[in-house]
Amino acid sequence: MMLLYFIVILLTGVVGLKMGALSRKGTVAAIFTGNAIAYGFGWKGLVLLGVFFGTSTLWSKYKQDRKQETERIVVKGSARDEYQVLANGGAAAFAGVMMAMFPSLWWIAFFISALAASNADTWASELGVLAKRDPYHILKLRTVPRGTSGAVSMPGLLASFLASLLVAGVGFFLFDLPFTLFLVITGAGVLGSMIDTIIGATIQEEFYCETCSLKTERTVHCGVGTTKIKGISGINNDVVNMVSSLCGGIACGVWFL
Ligand SMILES: [Zn+2]
Repeated sequence: MMLLYFIVILLTGVVGLKMGALSRKGTVAAIFTGNAIAYGFGWKGLVLLGVFFGTSTLWSKYKQDRKQETERIVVKGSARDEYQVLANGGAAAFAGVMMAMFPSLWWIAFFISALAASNADTWASELGVLAKRDPYHILKLRTVPRGTSGAVSMPGLLASFLASLLVAGVGFFLFDLPFTLFLVITGAGVLGSMIDTIIGATIQEEFYCETCSLKTERTVHCGVGTTKIKGISGINNDVVNMVSSLCGGIACGVWFL
């Protein structure tokens, strides 16, 4: 059975690479992630991973022309590299390995919540930037340019809720979960993505480009090095996504209390 899973994962990874959704190393990381999830959760885990990977790829391609302004601010383009894959799928992969060794409902809930948080976060950033109005900074409560870390908008919040609801809902049916756990997982996913925004607004590093006067996540902009204006060195978008996904996973633990 694992061989069949491996072939499916390999083919999906190659399709992702060809579509430009994954970089080369990102594909290798995605294949590892997929296998760890299949190891613990079988085909059900892969279906849920597919929901996340499929919808994030779809949304990242959606209205791509309108996202170019944002791409100047964020570090990476639409092809996910190995760091992005592990930031979004690492916690879920970890749950897969733990499930295989110590099977329990807790790891199933952790897995679905971690993926719900990653999905909430991805949908919010892909769809939030398309909002007509400029978003608000989550802590300063004033408008900031689209794509700024720590920015929230109503469409972005709605997107993160629906994204979490979708993953939790598919997980609910696949794993035959108690209904209250489904509700807790939906909440945990949204909470994880809120934590992402708050870290983005506070300790995530931010740089300034002297050439074009733009605040950015990039260390090089307009061909020259940028100046760090905020945050702790090393707390980049990938670290923040990883923490957000882990927090989502851990937050569903309240159901077990
Ligand atoms: Zn610049």
